[in-house]
Amino acid sequence: MVWVRQLVCLVCLTAGALAGTAAPPNIILITVDTTRADRMGFLGSHRGLTPNLDALARRSVVFTHAYSQAPFTAPSHATILTGTYPQFHQVEDFQVPLAKDLPYAPAILKAQGYHTAAFVGSIVLDPSQGLSVGFDRGFDYYDAGFHMAMPGEDHYNSTGRRGSDVVARALTWLSVREPGPFFIWVHVYDAHYPYDPPEPFLSRYKSEPYDGGIAYVDSCMGKLLDKLRASGLFENSLIAVMSDHGEALGDHGEEFHGFFLYDATIQVPLLIKMPGERFAGKIDNRVGLVDVLPTILDAARIAVPSDVQGESLLNMMAMPEPPPGRSAGRSPSDRERTASNPTASPGRPLYAETEYGVRAYGWSAIRSLRTGKYLLIEAPRRELYDLATDPNAEHDLAPTSKAVADTLQGQLDDFRRKTSKSVVAPSSTADPEAQEKLAALGYTASNADSLATAALGGGADPKDKIEIGNMMVHANFLLEVARNEEAVALLHKVIAKDPDMWIVYAKLGGAETNLGHFPEAVKAKRKAVELMPDSVNLHYELGNVLLKSHDYEGAIPELEGVEAKLPGSWKTHLLLEIAYSRTNRLPQAIKECETVLAVLPEQYGTNLWLGRDLIRAGDPEAALPRLTKAASLRPWAPQPHLALADAYDKLGRHDDAERERDEGKRLAEKGPAPDPD
Ligand SMILES: [Zn+2]
Repeated sequence: MVWVRQLVCLVCLTAGALAGTAAPPNIILITVDTTRADRMGFLGSHRGLTPNLDALARRSVVFTHAYSQAPFTAPSHATILTGTYPQFHQVEDFQVPLAKDLPYAPAILKAQGYHTAAFVGSIVLDPSQGLSVGFDRGFDYYDAGFHMAMPGEDHYNSTGRRGSDVVARALTWLSVREPGPFFIWVHVYDAHYPYDPPEPFLSRYKSEPYDGGIAYVDSCMGKLLDKLRASGLFENSLIAVMSDHGEALGDHGEEFHGFFLYDATIQVPLLIKMPGERFAGKIDNRVGLVDVLPTILDAARIAVPSDVQGESLLNMMAMPEPPPGRSAGRSPSDRERTASNPTASPGRPLYAETEYGVRAYGWSAIRSLRTGKYLLIEAPRRELYDLATDPNAEHDLAPTSKAVADTLQGQLDDFRRKTSKSVVAPSSTADPEAQEKLAALGYTASNADSLATAALGGGADPKDKIEIGNMMVHANFLLEVARNEEAVALLHKVIAKDPDMWIVYAKLGGAETNLGHFPEAVKAKRKAVELMPDSVNLHYELGNVLLKSHDYEGAIPELEGVEAKLPGSWKTHLLLEIAYSRTNRLPQAIKECETVLAVLPEQYGTNLWLGRDLIRAGDPEAALPRLTKAASLRPWAPQPHLALADAYDKLGRHDDAERERDEGKRLAEKGPAPDPD
């Protein structure tokens, strides 16, 4: 591979831009999810998909050999926004929160006086939904607001948002923002599976729907860039565009992304338009998404925190030495950092890893190092490729070039040791309700404790499991968009291929529950528990579905086991209160209700259940405030009034009972309200 540096200074720095008093640049970070480098016109594609990004690229520095550090959304974005490697930030899947002490782009820029906002296109980056928790730190405004799809609900009105909507929301924020520099992160998800762009792209790219998604994303970028130009924000903004990872599209047998570390998913487009369009051209050096944050901070003359692990690419981009006085008012470490940060060498090794296989399915984690002409992949069956003669990584040299592989493995181990964080990452959320939500989503295991039994590196080689991996990505998508019948059929096909994957039964049970097929759901969840008996969350899920199938006696031991291990889970208390009440264990039911109400006094169902249980336990007087509260929380529901009538009757207050009964009947006639269980 020939490493060439081709730079053209299109517009030299103006005196004003060089002056120490120059305003801090606005920073616009754009991540185009799941976009392959080889679909970009500015990287040599002749498919004509990206005219708008190509126009931007002509005024930018384009990195022709940029690589992601992880092939799926949460870890890769964590690397982009923290400037650290996955083994340091430890956001290895959507369930691991971003640690508060990590350097983080919005927090750093906000501390420097920037207004900060994020506009994301998918629920996978929505911290309020228990995914990518902590990603909203430092953002004045984080635009997400997604929810799981209900049956028949459009994917783009629930778990996702079209790129044009994401862009429109970002433009609205820009139009009403307060004065001062801003940092915005715009994330568009439309190139991601299921490859269903809106018209005219759907029809135009019928035979290549993935390309249609790219073309649509490019059109969204065109709208954004046009508006930035029209509003005068284009010239003096730093605009960085990149993908978080590519898409395999069948490469090495992988359909999507996440399992493997070949170029199809790890090589990504990356371009940076400097404020004032100071530089344009191409850089062929190998760079990583880990370098984006230090480069942005360097360009904004902001000191790069010492724990950032990427390298500023600014020197490589031929940034002239700042004249005297340029750094006045900035931290001294600014210049030190710049001076001590050598230009990344053409042969700089670049690391990537994925724990998707181990976290989702208990297979092995894999790691890679691109160094010199080689790609080394550490896996149960190690791989080595000479990319200079074998750019598609089709001829594995590991069996015949053991000495080379061993040497590179030593480099990889050494690099990983030096760049890993020694402290344990914050654990995944333990709330079973959050786990339930996550279980229905594509990338996550349904149980945070899957790792406890699946030793990292001790599982199957993902190469041997890729067919199942592909099927599970399909199944997860079907579950995400509530196409439960199709999901059930596909999950049965997976079971036919591998009958020992607990997660498949867990997901099958979820789909059957959604369909109201409770006996099938119980059967599937029981099988999952049998295969993974130590999982608290699976016991919770089994308890929940037993409750739904009215097997209250069966549900109680499952839920009691969960309560003993996770006493803070209010959802478990809530389910137990119903199970106890339905089985006439009134003292226990009342105790569970009181436990829930101590934390959630506004919980409608618990107020109602407690009121009814108190009546049944012979204390109608104590029931009155609970039922009155329930009535105030849902003024349209008849049940609290009918229960109040019962309580008043028992107290001999027949006029009050009459009044409440009439009110209950009146509300019931307006429409049925289901019991809250
Ligand atoms: Zn992604």
